[in-house]
Amino acid sequence: MQCPFCGQDNDRVVDSRSSEGGKVVRRRRQCEACHRRFTTYERPESTVRLTVIKKDGSRQPYDRQKVITALERACYKRPITDRQIRSIVEAVEESVFQNWEKDVPSSFIGDTVGGCLQEVDKIAYMRFASVYRAFADVGELIEEAQEVKDRPVVGSDQKALFDDT
Ligand SMILES: [Zn+2]
Repeated sequence: MQCPFCGQDNDRVVDSRSSEGGKVVRRRRQCEACHRRFTTYERPESTVRLTVIKKDGSRQPYDRQKVITALERACYKRPITDRQIRSIVEAVEESVFQNWEKDVPSSFIGDTVGGCLQEVDKIAYMRFASVYRAFADVGELIEEAQEVKDRPVVGSDQKALFDDT
């Protein structure tokens, strides 16, 4: 598994356990290069059966590819690997499964993706936010950019998704 922090593909599993009645396997991994820890979740694809409720109330099946596409657009030409994108998608899905049973508001997915992205790359986050948050004017966008710039990376809640050592 490629390290989401330094990109090296050299890790060891330090802990492994199943949750949700065995549907998900959670593994704590430690990168041998930078020694940071990260978590991976493995689940069969078929268990991802969620309905997304959009702002206008319409419903559609959860589509992992849509999340990946949104992330890839936000990360275009940024130093973010496919593996990192996949780690974000997995963290988002894990959070969704922990908080919602079958229906999830699209805003929850958007907020969670934004939170993860902020920890990985602030420019990618701003791109994502400028599409997803639909700022009323450029002033709001600048305010958000300022806040993100000043926000410390270490110690925020979302950080725990990638590194809870
Ligand atoms: Zn590493």
